[in-house]
Amino acid sequence: MPLRVFLILSLAMLMCGAAHNVEGQMRKPETEPGVPRELARRRAEHYSDVRYALDVTIEPGAKMLKGRLKVTASLDSDAGDLVLDWRVPKDVDPRSRVSDIKANGKKVDDARFVNEHIVIPRAHLKTGANNVEMSFESPISASGSAVTRYLDREDKSEYVYTLFVPSDASTAFPCFDQPDLKARFALRVTAPETWRVVSNTDSFIQPEFDDTSGGLPKSPPKGMLWRVFKETVPLSTYQFAFAAGPFEELKDDASPYKTSLFVRKSKAERAKKELAEVFRLNRESLKFFEGYFAHKFPFPKYDLILIPEFAYNGMEHAGATFLREEGVLFPSDPTAGDIAARAETLLHENAHQWFGNLVTMRWFDDLWLKEGFATFMAYKAVEALMPEYNAWKVFHLRTKPLAYLTDVTKGTTPIFQEIPNLSAAKSAYGNIVYRKAPSILRQAEFYLGEREFQRAVRLFVKEHAYANATWEDLVRAFERTSRRKLDAWAAAWVKRRGMPDVRVSWGVNRRGEIIRFEIEQRDALGEGGAWPMKVKLLLAPTAPGARPETLTVTLGGAGATSVPEAIGKPRPAYVFANFEDYGYGRFLLNNTSRNYVVRRLGSIKDDFLRALLWDSLWESVREAELAPDDFIDLAVREAPKERDDVMLGFILARVQTAYLRYLSDAQQTALAPRLEGALYEGMMRAETAGLRITFYRAYRETATTVEARKILSDILADKLQVPGMTLRSRDRFDIVRALIARLGDGEADEKLADDFLKFAVKQDSSDDGRRYAYAAGAARGDASVKKRYFDQYLRDKDLAESWIEASFGPFNTPRQSALTLPYLGDALAELPTLKRTRKIFFVNGWLAAFIGGQCDARAASTVSDFLARTPALDRDLRLKILEAADGLERCVRIRARYAAESSDAARPAP
Ligand SMILES: [Zn+2]
Repeated sequence: MPLRVFLILSLAMLMCGAAHNVEGQMRKPETEPGVPRELARRRAEHYSDVRYALDVTIEPGAKMLKGRLKVTASLDSDAGDLVLDWRVPKDVDPRSRVSDIKANGKKVDDARFVNEHIVIPRAHLKTGANNVEMSFESPISASGSAVTRYLDREDKSEYVYTLFVPSDASTAFPCFDQPDLKARFALRVTAPETWRVVSNTDSFIQPEFDDTSGGLPKSPPKGMLWRVFKETVPLSTYQFAFAAGPFEELKDDASPYKTSLFVRKSKAERAKKELAEVFRLNRESLKFFEGYFAHKFPFPKYDLILIPEFAYNGMEHAGATFLREEGVLFPSDPTAGDIAARAETLLHENAHQWFGNLVTMRWFDDLWLKEGFATFMAYKAVEALMPEYNAWKVFHLRTKPLAYLTDVTKGTTPIFQEIPNLSAAKSAYGNIVYRKAPSILRQAEFYLGEREFQRAVRLFVKEHAYANATWEDLVRAFERTSRRKLDAWAAAWVKRRGMPDVRVSWGVNRRGEIIRFEIEQRDALGEGGAWPMKVKLLLAPTAPGARPETLTVTLGGAGATSVPEAIGKPRPAYVFANFEDYGYGRFLLNNTSRNYVVRRLGSIKDDFLRALLWDSLWESVREAELAPDDFIDLAVREAPKERDDVMLGFILARVQTAYLRYLSDAQQTALAPRLEGALYEGMMRAETAGLRITFYRAYRETATTVEARKILSDILADKLQVPGMTLRSRDRFDIVRALIARLGDGEADEKLADDFLKFAVKQDSSDDGRRYAYAAGAARGDASVKKRYFDQYLRDKDLAESWIEASFGPFNTPRQSALTLPYLGDALAELPTLKRTRKIFFVNGWLAAFIGGQCDARAASTVSDFLARTPALDRDLRLKILEAADGLERCVRIRARYAAESSDAARPAP
């Protein structure tokens, strides 16, 4: 059947709403919406040498981006029709946003608009180079579009920026929106002369246009400038970006990479205070990566652009990384943990310039490759450039627990995720890609050897520079340099979901010598998985001062591995099977070890080891093997001895979860004075400001007694100071949020809540202040307030995504679960819409908040009923729900085991 006839027929069938089967069988890839894998494959095979020339106009306040596009592509003789991706909002006719289509200079009247594509018939094309031109327009809005406008209320300035990842470039202009059709982008922007415009390359101002033969204007409109950006090296569509507005440009004169930091005018003074360290890390990390990858910085310049309320921490556009403004310009006095988090983001985006931008995944199923490498390499840079941090300890604290949090659930996925259509690519983002993948790379480096690993990475970068590659290409490189077969290794870690549970057991004779020693690996999900892994085993000595034994052990897979090297060694005080954290899995202590560690944690001098043991103990709490109040007791005793606020923050975050979620009301009331006392002591008297601030934050979140709330009010009113901490706007709103979350719904409480909010707003009515106020207001324990917020989430089209994201946590304050439970079902029902319309991490945050705010059997059955009732729910959403529901089920289980009993006597021995 000729394609055209087929298309007309299938369109007609679609309009009749019938014949799905026939259509399903015969459907051509371009007739599917989104970017189907098959279409992408075909285009990558038959199209090459792609170039985009974009000429766009950004008028102040305009609701549309207007532009002219010229796409050049070389087509082979089998290329068929040319298929561009072009996605418009559901209620808009895609034809209405495109006009004046030409192919090779001739008008095209018969372009077809089929399911988010523009199809240029082959009759207009030839084998070899072709060009297609058209005018287009696409939305600019505060929320929900790829081109976003941010209005700064402080000085009435506006900033416009793009965010195309994973496949939203095709909502801004027609293109081939897939990572493996890399193209050269040329860009001209018409924008107000008082603005700055930044994109992937350097720009110059074009005073006038000398060729007016086509009726084109000779000069830009009055008050506007033409800025021309030099053509890029080959980039994927998601790596292309621009931002425009009255930015202040701060140059790093010391950088050989031509770096400027762009910041909105109203934050320029604030930014100058952070410049020295941000620029130092930026310069030195790029140099470090050049050395590690043995490849010079791959783009002609490198700018950092701070975007207010940016949807992610950062986005690595080639040569122009966008960073969330609040992640760089701390809204509160920073702790060492905050500084480490900022460094991780900056170094992660910088590493992406090689791993991601220079060498790009072929398809988003390999998203993990670039994300895993970016984080792993970020910590290699931390190790080299920030010696005051123990890089791999921080890596553990910030990475592993989050990976395990997801990977132990029924909602987990392999790090390699099948993505049949890029419309589902957003679901690939989460802990598995961001936290498990770098953990696997750390294991890979240990498994293969540091030198072999680095040589393979260099080989991979060299062979695929400015092109695309898959994980198999990397595994082949590993095999070449290590001379080992890695099929089984790669299949277990890349293609299989889940993680191992690793436990040790041993026996000793009467003389106290080890006669039997085994490490057993089991699939934590019980799905029969086995993971080849190399770990360091620690046998801690019973005698104080004696040297600990470490043994390197390779676990072949499932079942028990005996460790003959341990035989004959003296009885250990405790054993930990993941010393120095090369392994990946749940490494629980057995009873003997756990009892010892709980008693003697403070005497373990090695920081990194202590961090791993804290984490292991926390996993025991999550497994309902260690009582949450025992964990809190331990923290009250030991946390004040910690000297590193990254670690202290890690411990106290778990104390908060144990206290707010796992304890019954009665247990909380009983424990409150002691916990508050210890935290107060820390926030007033700990050695460094970073430690005091860390204690203060935990105090604020857990304060329940009248006395503690009075102390918070005093801090809010500047009657009391946390020594060394400046109370900033963000801190005021955080106190207000914490205080009003504990109020009831009576009239007096309502007034009190209003007063608190007014007080904070009076001191900061900026845009940030208004967002904080909105978020804090969601914490009101009042049914009518919850209803108002929830209605806005679903219906208020002008409500910025960042405002919703800031508020759904406070909305779901754990102690208000009775008030928020009625919204759980609706929140789940909303998921398909949210997946379609919101940015990448929104759905994860939404589920974490709405399910995470609950801890009882009714909530658990709301979730399981929804899953049972909605069999047609997308698989990725189903998995995300299962992931979030794991925390809820654990909470129910832990409370059932430990919260019901009041006396210690009734509790099973730990
Ligand atoms: Zn990344």
